[in-house]
Amino acid sequence: MKVFKFGGASVKDADSVRNVVNVLNLYSEDKIAVVVSAMGKMTNALERLLHAYYYATGKIDEEFYNIKEYHMGITSALFPDVKSEIYTDLDNIFTLFKTRLTIPTSDNYDYEYDQIVSLGEIISSRILSAYLNSTGIENLWIDARSIIRTDNTYRDARIDWDKTVELVNDSMKFHKERIYITQGFIGSTAENITTTLGREGSDFSAAILAYSLEAEKVAIWKDVPGVLNADPKYFDDTIKLEQLSYHDAIELAYYGASVIHPKTIKPLQNKKIPLWVKSFLHPRERGTIIQNDKVELQIASFIFKMNQVLITIHARDFSFIAEQNLGDIFHELSRLRVRINVMQNTALSFSICVDWDDRRIPELIKSLETDYMIKYNKGLELVTIRHYDQETIDRVTVNKEVLLEEKTRNTVQMVMRDIDKVME
Ligand code: ASP
Ligand code: MG
Repeated sequence: MKVFKFGGASVKDADSVRNVVNVLNLYSEDKIAVVVSAMGKMTNALERLLHAYYYATGKIDEEFYNIKEYHMGITSALFPDVKSEIYTDLDNIFTLFKTRLTIPTSDNYDYEYDQIVSLGEIISSRILSAYLNSTGIENLWIDARSIIRTDNTYRDARIDWDKTVELVNDSMKFHKERIYITQGFIGSTAENITTTLGREGSDFSAAILAYSLEAEKVAIWKDVPGVLNADPKYFDDTIKLEQLSYHDAIELAYYGASVIHPKTIKPLQNKKIPLWVKSFLHPRERGTIIQNDKVELQIASFIFKMNQVLITIHARDFSFIAEQNLGDIFHELSRLRVRINVMQNTALSFSICVDWDDRRIPELIKSLETDYMIKYNKGLELVTIRHYDQETIDRVTVNKEVLLEEKTRNTVQMVMRDIDKVME
């Protein structure tokens, strides 16, 4: 069996959905589990809707309307027959959804998040499944919440592997259907409460299915030709990597390369399942293969992370930052689920660079301020270079002020800001 993952960009409009058929038609003999993300930027839109709901900003109707219109636009382009079942189906989903938004919210933001934001994947998978059926690609729609079993760590749910393996096999392996359509990003607790696996978690969902099914391979279909050595958003002359070891792929993803979700590689590595990253626009082209490979990456890779905050923590009484303080600080980071991108400690201070988050970071700072003196700088960027040399460092630090630098044999990380910003 193969597992294919189609991300938001690959189903962002009616033509993209039609293109999924072109891709699948190249594999007409294979049994395939298809994992699909929310369409286009719908996860962001659902996050805005959640915000409106949770904070009662009065914008629920507007946000809801945008989400519904977007999906109905794609649906009407794909299904000219207004009697198609998909219309009743979506109508039911949106009606239930609308009602859900009239119930008062609980106090648990992360729980509410999962109940609402998960809808994007449900809707996209319903549309894709119905469309494939209408073009003759018969398929079985599976609710990922009936196969991906998690704990109740909302927004970052942990997988119950044994149960998931059992459920996935029951619903896919032992069935005769050739194509299965399910959702990325979502799962459910033993009590049937919806959970999500973290932003961009659909890649991880594909890996979970592949691990469970002992799949022959996974393909992630993207709008780039494969894994590039830098994000084309920030770099002009990127190079496509032909192959990558699991090790290098984990490191790149860990440092924030947006190409694959960091949790994706481990389950695949455990079962030695190759992962292909391929272009949905040029599906016949080779793409990049990630597999058990001893060869180290020969080319420097650049990973840019924007919207970083550098937080420096001092003991109030000028005492050393020692194990006890570090233990407390890490405890707070873990409680608020803030992930460290880089850290450094000196005698009197401890600095961490983390992604900015409107809710978690102010809360973190507030809580650390009880015991420590905190200074922080927002709006920074973090550049990581794997397999760096001086030339590659010089290339990314033009007109930048480097606030913190960490070097190991293979990797350099620099937290920096634009020099013009310093002048302001
Ligand atoms: N739709 C989710 C997100 O945008 C999951 C994913 O796309 O992988 O974060
Ligand atoms: Mg997405």
